[in-house]
Amino acid sequence: MILPSLTEAESPYNRPVKYSLFPPLGLATLAAYCHECDEIDLVDQHVEKLSTDDCPDLVVIQVYITNAYRAYQIADTYRSKGCYVILGGLHVTSLPDEAKQHADSVFIGPGEDTFPEFLKDFRAGKAKPVYRSIERSLDHLPPVRRDLIKRHLYLVPNSIVVSRGCPFHCSFCYKDAFFGSKKSFYTQKVDDALREIERLPGRHLYFLDDHLLGDRRFASALFDGMYGMNRVFQGAATVNSILKGDLIEKAAKAGLRSIFVGFESVNDENMASTNKYQNIHYEYEEVCRRLNDLGIMINGSFVFGLDHDGPDVFRRTVDWALRQGITTATFHIATPYPGTAYYQEMQQQRRILHSQWDRYDTRQVVFQPKGMSTEQLKQGYDWSYREFYRWKNIVRSASAHSNSKHMLKHFFYTAGWKKFESLWTLLINGRRLGMMTPLLEAILSKVSKAGEERELGGGNTEGNKIEQPGKKIDVLEWEGLS
Ligand code: SF4
Repeated sequence: MILPSLTEAESPYNRPVKYSLFPPLGLATLAAYCHECDEIDLVDQHVEKLSTDDCPDLVVIQVYITNAYRAYQIADTYRSKGCYVILGGLHVTSLPDEAKQHADSVFIGPGEDTFPEFLKDFRAGKAKPVYRSIERSLDHLPPVRRDLIKRHLYLVPNSIVVSRGCPFHCSFCYKDAFFGSKKSFYTQKVDDALREIERLPGRHLYFLDDHLLGDRRFASALFDGMYGMNRVFQGAATVNSILKGDLIEKAAKAGLRSIFVGFESVNDENMASTNKYQNIHYEYEEVCRRLNDLGIMINGSFVFGLDHDGPDVFRRTVDWALRQGITTATFHIATPYPGTAYYQEMQQQRRILHSQWDRYDTRQVVFQPKGMSTEQLKQGYDWSYREFYRWKNIVRSASAHSNSKHMLKHFFYTAGWKKFESLWTLLINGRRLGMMTPLLEAILSKVSKAGEERELGGGNTEGNKIEQPGKKIDVLEWEGLS
């Protein structure tokens, strides 16, 4: 099972730590459908060398848009040796005909129903060329094969996914392309999700769900169940879901310490034109205030180059984010991924500049923007990153909080993430990234208001509380995260 490295991961201009965050959970999930006696080697090319000297019975390759060419090369190599090669993932689902040229079987959509079916067919010697997902359910999901994950090579080995998809339909998102017209948002059973959490060592968890608060009943029950587990966790959610009811408070009580929020644009018109109605008419400032009050750090996601953006959008966005005390910002150049409504729209308007998929990394301009030139868009994007992460601006953003512990946490989290590149590279080269997990857990400890219980540097006592509960990329984030 192979996750080929994304093209941008090998660029000397990009940060290796960004590609050593999460293990390949999707492949480890599929591995659980294999027989116990099957010998499986799961290789993530982002953190280890891939040797193609072997000749396994079956090669499973996960394909994203910017690793597609590399995935196809690996597939061709194995096929030339007589190995059976299957390809699946977001890019294969978007462009199955392209992928078919490099595979014996391709998988369209999620693999929980189709992979077991394929394995049965493969063992019987009658595998089909195309497997299309129809039945969508996470019931009776076998435990993820975490034993195949080389935990020490990742900063966040405890990543977890308890749902699939998202209830929304943003035109630029892969989500609709991946799930098609069938069920596109579903969750595990709460008890199954809690059992999966219990299997994870340590305290820190990162929910990689597109929208952790997307099913409010499920999320509420999940947070109730997590209360008292002494966990700290991170996740993603939409603007509207944070403002509705008291779910976010419940999440904070269960251990939510940082959240990825898809603000995407400071222009409402952009949100309307991209079908992101869950952001319109909601006060972004109120979202930030609420999260800040709960001591939850914010990873704000922003997209540049949508049709209502002019050259002023960069400064306006960065200023706004700094004023709100956004902890980390993930900026993207709008990118029309094949298979999305946004791609169709750009194609109809003849605004797609090229189809070199390994350049569709949200750092490069691949379409003709409306309100500025391609150069302005690229320069503005680069400027935004530089500006947001200047030392003086890290201090400015951290100072937006009223609580001194939150200020300090914000400062150390942001500075630690962006300002110590050589330390991260040293840890990655020494294969000791796992050493940083306790530090991450300490920084994610609870911020409490004056007079409340204080928990510093891992001295968390939530696990001892007897109070009863009332009862949320930056690697791939824009490909399908809130
Ligand atoms: S961008 Fe986020 S909110 Fe919109 S469809 Fe994709 S996952 Fe859902």
